[in-house]
Amino acid sequence: MSSQGQAAAPLARGDADDGAGGGTKAAAHFVFVPLNERGHLIPAVDTALLLATHGAVCTIVGPPSTTSKVRQTVESAQQSGLPVRLVDFPLDYAAAGLPEGADYADRIEGTYMMNYYRAVGLLRAPIERYLRAHDPYPTCIIADIFNPWTTELAAGLGVPRLSFFSICAFTILCQHNLERFNAYDGVEDPNAPVVVPGIERKVVVTRAQAPGFLRGIPIPDWVELADYIERARAEADGVVMNTVLEMEPEYVAGYAEARGMNVWTVGPVSLYHHGAATLASRGDSAPAIGAAECLRWLDGKEPGSVVYVSFGSIAQAGPKQLLELALGLEASGHPFIWVVRNAGGYDEAVRGSLAELEARVAGRGLLVRGWAPQAAILSHAAVGGFVSHCGWNSTLEAIAAGLPLVTWPHFTDQFLNEKMAVEVLGIGVSVGVKEPLTFQASNKETLVGRGVVEKAVRDIMGGGEEAERRRQRARELAAKARAAVQEGGSSHANLLDLVKRFGKGAAAAPSDKSSAAS
Ligand code: UDP
Repeated sequence: MSSQGQAAAPLARGDADDGAGGGTKAAAHFVFVPLNERGHLIPAVDTALLLATHGAVCTIVGPPSTTSKVRQTVESAQQSGLPVRLVDFPLDYAAAGLPEGADYADRIEGTYMMNYYRAVGLLRAPIERYLRAHDPYPTCIIADIFNPWTTELAAGLGVPRLSFFSICAFTILCQHNLERFNAYDGVEDPNAPVVVPGIERKVVVTRAQAPGFLRGIPIPDWVELADYIERARAEADGVVMNTVLEMEPEYVAGYAEARGMNVWTVGPVSLYHHGAATLASRGDSAPAIGAAECLRWLDGKEPGSVVYVSFGSIAQAGPKQLLELALGLEASGHPFIWVVRNAGGYDEAVRGSLAELEARVAGRGLLVRGWAPQAAILSHAAVGGFVSHCGWNSTLEAIAAGLPLVTWPHFTDQFLNEKMAVEVLGIGVSVGVKEPLTFQASNKETLVGRGVVEKAVRDIMGGGEEAERRRQRARELAAKARAAVQEGGSSHANLLDLVKRFGKGAAAAPSDKSSAAS
């Protein structure tokens, strides 16, 4: 562990100094510049750990609010001998016009959002200074798409830069095609159906559901940032994507071709974690419930009987919706683990109703008020299905665990991810939400009634031919996903290829930018 101005942690595996003062013999040194939203941060760190497992040195940089979320994970990787560093760079609040201490993007008022991104962008110079001063010299930057300023960081260091996406190729290609073929031109109604152009499958979306990448976000000056991000994406030397090639080969190839750059599929990156110990602290070193307690609770349940319910790290149900969901879960009759984000933020009446529900379903339903060790829960044999908001990480974690999904998208890429789960992969049952919610708790009328929740849960968890076929498809996908990260698999090969191509002495940028890697 190190922070700016402090000594870097000693590196382990593969880091013997070459004695020439030029750094280490390790072929590749990837510098990860993640975003602090957990849906971006967690898979980026998993990817860094996977690359380190394959012989690269990895340095993860960010403000303290970012690094603190993954410190425990990185420290445990260091203890197991992986050459990975985590380096803090404090934000300059005043220079960016940001209120002191406002350094969690997920907690900042919309009006300060651009100041936050400005503050993060100001880290370029100190990060570059740090990287120049500490061996080994970087060989490649892997940057979250929300950090477009890394184009200048990479240029300053004279190294290539890859974009990191924890989004599937299907979704990213649909978004790209909707934009590049101007699919919404002349379509006034944001809820009018539009067919995604440029792909063989007929996929129908609306502008409200799929406005294009980072488009339609109601934050002042957002368009400027979205355009900057788009330029950075177009100029990248390639893409590292948390998906499985065999699951969506045509979309991986389609996106690589559309962008004219290599796409390295490396997922599911959550499979980096093997033991409950490292899974437990993934994304938060202080979860609301310990993995051991969750797993003990699950041990007492029949295989495949428990439904896991979570809407990720950002989405939050409005109070009415929360109670309908509660009643639907209760009525389904299935055991459940339900993660209620920001449970303390609801008013007393709602909190009281939740406590009453908890008493009624004691032993059958477990409420987690805060952060849950999700990947550990999903991999337990007692879990048989997942009610999800279709964040891509959650979707892929369900796939890796061989689970069918109840799909309940809220916003951003989630509507397209739902289509991936339901229409492309055939492992999901939709609750039928058609319009996105805002990011914050919504006071809108209930969107999904208790009866719909109950039926959808029964559909994925129950018997019947269709449910069995869905489960079978989920199991087959899990086998593909697991094979991909094992030796000889596509993700495994792509990780090795990255280490080789972006190692010391390798060409500064891949010369062939026209096809999908692997
Ligand atoms: N997650 C978790 N515990 C929680 C909520 C979320 O471990 O209580 C993890 C989840 O496993 C996934 C990530 O946080 O890796 C959420 O990412 P996703 O893309 O699914 O959704 P987002 O939070 O970005 O909406």
